[in-house]
Amino acid sequence: MKKKIVMFGSYVADLTGTADHLPRAGETVFGERFKIGPGGKGSNQAVAAHRAGADIVLATKLGKDVFGDLARDFYAQERIAAEYVLTDDEKGTGIALICVDEVSKQNQILVVPGACMNFTDADIETLRPAIEAADILLVQFEVNMDALEKAVDIARAAGVTIVLNPAPARKVSREFICKADVVTPNEVEAAALTGIPVENASDAQKAADIFHSWGIPKVVITLGKQGVFASAADEHRMVPARIVEAVDTTGAGDAFNGGFVTALSEGKDLFEAVEFGNALASLAVQKFGTAPSMPMRGEIDKIL
Ligand code: ADP
Repeated sequence: MKKKIVMFGSYVADLTGTADHLPRAGETVFGERFKIGPGGKGSNQAVAAHRAGADIVLATKLGKDVFGDLARDFYAQERIAAEYVLTDDEKGTGIALICVDEVSKQNQILVVPGACMNFTDADIETLRPAIEAADILLVQFEVNMDALEKAVDIARAAGVTIVLNPAPARKVSREFICKADVVTPNEVEAAALTGIPVENASDAQKAADIFHSWGIPKVVITLGKQGVFASAADEHRMVPARIVEAVDTTGAGDAFNGGFVTALSEGKDLFEAVEFGNALASLAVQKFGTAPSMPMRGEIDKIL
């Protein structure tokens, strides 16, 4: 029996243009290619979990604009229920303007989060029944903090397991972080929260010990192509990433988190869930794009 997951988080339309160099201040550059894709950490993680077969409710917010319409079309195409995809009357859909230098592969990103930084108390009340009926709440830091705190408090009061992907790195109170049952930072986020620079397994262990000392039972630190350091009260170890030819690691963390919660919802233990997340992410990094690069369950099972 699969447990129910609610993902409360962001949707952002990724507007990506490529050129032979990035524009300097005041400069206009003619680009080569342009693409609009569905993005936002919350939405990406929900798509990854949904494609992996999870029973997941997507709770996000869009504007009344063309980007919101594109998101709704995408969810319909993916057969992701939109009951808890809310609409903001004033703010537009979140967008990310991504300029990519085709030569150096460096990028510049300007994010205007719009609707997903504007969840109101009334919105959270709308989401309450879904959160209370869930077994797992998956959240990130791309929504307004007051709303995130309320959603997490509802989950805690209802005994729902809280999986916090503390991304992107943001200043938050320790009191808030401690409400999580599982935290899943990458190296940068783990360092920002604990103050320990994290580059390898031994650094990750030190950071994990700090999270544990704050009362967080399970810690999962992703270290890119090195893999994942996972730690619980009785066991901790490095789970290596799969060796693959990566072509685009954007959204690797989202792929991992979507897979990780899916496996937890199927009753797998922490280390099995990390293996599943690793497998899902290893497939996603072999394709371009974020949400559209998330693999289907059949592809994941084939490599496990
Ligand atoms: P983020 O995207 O948040 O920075 P990471 O870069 O740590 O996250 O990647 C998350 C996970 O994705 C890794 O722990 C690993 O499982 C997988 N991953 C990332 N890059 C690669 C890669 N080059 N090859 C294989 N797996 C990868």
